[in-house]
Amino acid sequence: MNSSIMSLAVSRHHRIAACGVAGLILCVVLAVLPVASLAAPKVAAFLPLFAMAVFTTEGLTAYLLWTQFLITRGPFLGALAGAYGYTAVTVAIQLLVFPGVFSPTGLLGAGPQSAVWIWAFWHGGSPVLILAALYVRQRFPNPLPRAKLRLAGFVLVGGPVCLSLLLCTLAIHGAVALPQLVDSQSYQRLRHSPSGIGIVVLSAGALLYLVNTTRLRTLLELWLGVALFAGFGDVIVTLVANERYSVGWYVARLESVLASSTVLGVLIWEISHLYRELHAANARLAEYASRDGLTGIFNRRYFEERYPVALAQANMAQRALSILMVDIDHFKRFNDTFGHLHGDECLASVAGALQADLPRNDDFVARFGGEEFVIVLPDCEREMAARIADRLHAAVARLGVAAPFTEVGSVSVSIGVATSPPNEPIPAAELLAHADAALYRAKEAGRNRVNVWHPAPLPHTLGSSASSASVHAH
Ligand code: GH3
Ligand code: MG
Ligand code: MG
Repeated sequence: MNSSIMSLAVSRHHRIAACGVAGLILCVVLAVLPVASLAAPKVAAFLPLFAMAVFTTEGLTAYLLWTQFLITRGPFLGALAGAYGYTAVTVAIQLLVFPGVFSPTGLLGAGPQSAVWIWAFWHGGSPVLILAALYVRQRFPNPLPRAKLRLAGFVLVGGPVCLSLLLCTLAIHGAVALPQLVDSQSYQRLRHSPSGIGIVVLSAGALLYLVNTTRLRTLLELWLGVALFAGFGDVIVTLVANERYSVGWYVARLESVLASSTVLGVLIWEISHLYRELHAANARLAEYASRDGLTGIFNRRYFEERYPVALAQANMAQRALSILMVDIDHFKRFNDTFGHLHGDECLASVAGALQADLPRNDDFVARFGGEEFVIVLPDCEREMAARIADRLHAAVARLGVAAPFTEVGSVSVSIGVATSPPNEPIPAAELLAHADAALYRAKEAGRNRVNVWHPAPLPHTLGSSASSASVHAH
């Protein structure tokens, strides 16, 4: 099973979906550009809502990438987690300092330039960190050694988070030293400043570099590409909009949300897909672990797990349960005569015959060990169990596997039958011992027969404490 998001190949459906989302983004950008600078009503609640959405999605994406990094030890995922962590922290700080959200001028002692500079650090830093992650991917393609995982994780995620704190501190307390980008609500200067141009170049550069180096072969790369495309659209529309609370400004914020949620969406989709696969693989593994390698029927482990449960259920429902111990007669001689490989084939044929002749779903046959099988028959009284045993005995005889050293000339089995009656349930180990003893008696009586264990008659009625057994000779 493929357990890494990083290596999941892109299916046609994903490619179509990604092209669809990218096409939609392009249409929105092209449609909004002519009206981007038109003023729109100021909705005070919009910015906090938008910032919370971006913070949550970027933070969750960072966390999921981080957990994938810890599982796969792939440095690219660690670096990408760092890039998303950077944006989450930066957005949270931008929200705090944005004028008019928590206070008219913003918290943390922010000045009028702080929020726009944080926006610039966010939209410039994010593609730089994604470029850095792509560089890490090329430079360190292999999983990190376990011993270096902690240190690498600290550098890859801690580094970008510290960078965000540093740049935000600069934007808040050192804004006087930075070029002015905003006048009142207009950030027209940003569009023509080196920072604005640099952000456009970096956003486009990160997208082109991603496409060029990865060819968008994996799911993560494909949706990262969509996210970078949405980010690029966000930057273009923001710069064209010129003013806060203009049409373009609102649309660009929505593009930011889209950019931040694409990778999260695909991570969640893929994690649930992997979970489904894991579930199926677990079921296959459990099935595999419960089967006997040679005969394909259930193994001893399955019997030991299921038999007490089946007996307890029968006892609770006040129903009988029977078990049959089946042993191939003279099997050592069979092996000695025909060899072990032929012996293996014979074992598989006998197992198949026993399995094929079990009438009900709840009945099961397991290989008890060597050439012995055990059969559990829930809700089956003694007489019925004896009849089933006779039928199975005959089914093996019908196989007609040649065994010239036996009286009948073909492979036969001896079967011991024991039943736990509904009114006086017998403990699991004891019932098994009774079936084994009945089998032993069948062997003693000459093999190739069924022996049914009968509980000891009550002393005051018959005056005897010995078990009685009926033997069906064939
Ligand atoms: P009895 O009629 O009393 O049951 O005699 P037996 O020869 O069948 O019983 P015994 O316990 O003396 O020998 C069992 C043989 O089963 C010995 C062993 O080589 C063989 N056997 C056990 N497991 C396998 C297996 O997986 N493959 C093969 N080919 N033989 C096996
Ligand atoms: Mg035997
Ligand atoms: Mg045996």
